[in-house]
Amino acid sequence: MLGKLKEHLYSALLPQQCACCRANLATIRNSNTCDACWQATTIYDGSESICDRCGVIVAASSKTHDVHCWQCDGHHYERARAVGTYENALATAVIGLKTTPKLSSRAAGLLLWAFQQNGFENVSLIVPVPLSKRRKIERGFNQAEVIADALARGTRIKVDPNSLTRIQHSPIHRIGMDRKARDLSVKDAFRVVRPKLLDGQSVLVVDDVFTTGATVSYCAKALLKCGARSVNVLTLARAMPGKF
Ligand SMILES: [Zn+2]
Ligand SMILES: [Zn+2]
Repeated sequence: MLGKLKEHLYSALLPQQCACCRANLATIRNSNTCDACWQATTIYDGSESICDRCGVIVAASSKTHDVHCWQCDGHHYERARAVGTYENALATAVIGLKTTPKLSSRAAGLLLWAFQQNGFENVSLIVPVPLSKRRKIERGFNQAEVIADALARGTRIKVDPNSLTRIQHSPIHRIGMDRKARDLSVKDAFRVVRPKLLDGQSVLVVDDVFTTGATVSYCAKALLKCGARSVNVLTLARAMPGKF
């Protein structure tokens, strides 16, 4: 209630500028990004033909079943799904989360919708992809935790931000870093410090962007090794192959 009032006050006092296209518009609702930018963003609705495991769109044609791509062979999670493609409004949301620990209500609503759409109701525990201690101190918060908390508010499922830890400070992924280098930078980076809390849990690993899937796969490996019953993945956005 107070939050809504504050939002109204801000919009009355400050000009509305879209964080994505920088246009001054009156159509900004429940987000810092305008309707046009949201409409220009691919949000997955279940009609896409995707790889059953990693969720990559394999064809623009209508949905076909039992599709597998070779890229996720050996990944440890069951299914990885995302709200939509890393572009326009979703890219803006992800970039915004690097400096501000807040997810817009529009993005949070889409996240909840993706959760339901993909049949993750059996999930018993949400685990955000951890940052290394050093990175978390530098940033002041973990963006995956912000996403996990938004999902927890909508689903009432518990979040465990402490049991999975990142034990090395991997270099920031840079453009030009090839797939293999990226994958190796997260290999063996994750450790479970409180295995008891994960025993028998159906875990949903949550992150901002799914790029090669190496990060969430190694998270899943560590969680399964410590007794998690299953590990699925939900991210806010998904980088399109060839664009990272
Ligand atoms: Zn815009
Ligand atoms: Zn795949």
